[in-house]
Amino acid sequence: MNATAAIGVTGLGVMGRNLARNFARNGYTVAVHNRSASRTRALIEVYGDEGAFVPAETAEEFVAALERPRRLMIMVQAGAATDAVIDEFAPLLEPGDMIIDGGNAHYSDTRRREAALRERGLHFVGTGVSGGEEGALEGPSIMVGGSAEAYDVLGPMFEKISAKVDGEPCAAHIGSDGAGHFVKMVHNGIEYADMQLIAEAYDLLRQVAGYTPAEIANVFRGWNRGRLGSYLVEITAEVLAHTDAETGAPFVDIVADAAGQKGTGRWTVQTALDLASPVTAIAQATFARAASGQSELRAAYAGLPGGTRPPLSRTEAERFTSQVEHALYASKVIAYDQGLKMIQDAAAEYGWKIDLGTVARIWRGGCIIRASFLDRIRAAYAADRELVSLLGEMEFAMEITDAQVPWRETVASAARRGIPVPAFSAALAHYDTLRADRLPAALLQGQRDYFGAHTYLRTDRPGAFHTHWAAPARPETPA
Ligand code: NAP
Repeated sequence: MNATAAIGVTGLGVMGRNLARNFARNGYTVAVHNRSASRTRALIEVYGDEGAFVPAETAEEFVAALERPRRLMIMVQAGAATDAVIDEFAPLLEPGDMIIDGGNAHYSDTRRREAALRERGLHFVGTGVSGGEEGALEGPSIMVGGSAEAYDVLGPMFEKISAKVDGEPCAAHIGSDGAGHFVKMVHNGIEYADMQLIAEAYDLLRQVAGYTPAEIANVFRGWNRGRLGSYLVEITAEVLAHTDAETGAPFVDIVADAAGQKGTGRWTVQTALDLASPVTAIAQATFARAASGQSELRAAYAGLPGGTRPPLSRTEAERFTSQVEHALYASKVIAYDQGLKMIQDAAAEYGWKIDLGTVARIWRGGCIIRASFLDRIRAAYAADRELVSLLGEMEFAMEITDAQVPWRETVASAARRGIPVPAFSAALAHYDTLRADRLPAALLQGQRDYFGAHTYLRTDRPGAFHTHWAAPARPETPA
């Protein structure tokens, strides 16, 4: 077989098939391979005329079809399947060749695989691909890890097949080894928070303002034209406007109210604990899904007393809607800010040089959290590379200041009426934590010193101190 393919894709499921087609539609010759050859044949049969494909039935044929340095992209499930495919192909490759893992791998697996393959002279490029099935075909957001040397070769290809915003590609080199998969993981964590915040806004508009799903769809359509403009707000309006064909009921009312949580959202929260990164809006969004799924517990306690309030008048409902818009926007800024700070924390831990402006830039298109305000986030980090929080940027700070009263009023209204808004509450509490002069952590330190002699730092002089709590009281001593 002649080595004519610029890239090879193995794993032709939903994502792999569409990525292979995307490469081919962009003029690359693509070798295609799948564990079960029927998928390879089906791709050629249905889409073979879209571009230059080289179908391969065996691993050897597949590798032989690739131009040197070989570029081989794996699109299979994360975990054992990815390891199995690497073990199958790595022995057939030569130093300088590149294995790209475009699945949703855990970044620590990517770090392990990169180190092991580097020893064998191979580049391992952990790459986060976002945008689902449609994005993979039409242009995803691509977060590339691995070496800068590998990106020199792969970058132009990824940039070509990625989504474009204002002519700029939504693909970039994020940082070495697992940085690409880490940023993809946090992207998915932010996605959880964004979806939960939108869902809480819907719930308030329904239960407090008394709007129907169709009316709320119109509210979201309006919001989508403003600063909340985003893919998720746009599709929310579509979902809310949809009626169930069978019953004629609003679609949202016939769907069971229990949500699952898969790998990456959960990984974000688990990793955040290890990094001591307080991504509280993301964590609450993840726990909200878990709580929704505890159907027995919910059934046992449904009907417990909660808050009540008279329904709002039409004018009050309109005012409340505007408050919720402020609350949603401010909470969303906090959720994205938490995720971006977590990326900074990981970069410090793992020695990655991550430019958050670039991260925001490639999230503007192709991916699920694409949103108009990401352009301003990009600009904020481009203007100040040392920026640690969006709250330090003037325009965002002004918007959050403007949102103060309505944001607090929204959370208070929810509490008074007994409507759970865990993500709104967490975002507001995070903001209040950041702006507080003093936190009760001082008391925690006292408690810890009391029961465990853990010592504490003082505000007025350096050193660690321990108080002798048992009577008779003695002055504290340096520990
Ligand atoms: P999928 O449709 O379920 O396809 C899985 C593919 O993996 C199939 O081609 C399957 O081959 C192959 N495979 C599974 N185990 C294997 C093994 N042990 N050895 C060799 N091949 C094996 O999956 P997908 O949705 O395309 O997802 C692929 C990757 O992209 C996953 O890591 C996923 O998390 C990630 N991802 C998915 C999305 C999405 O929206 N779906 C978005 C971003 C990222 P057979 O045909 O032989 O079974």
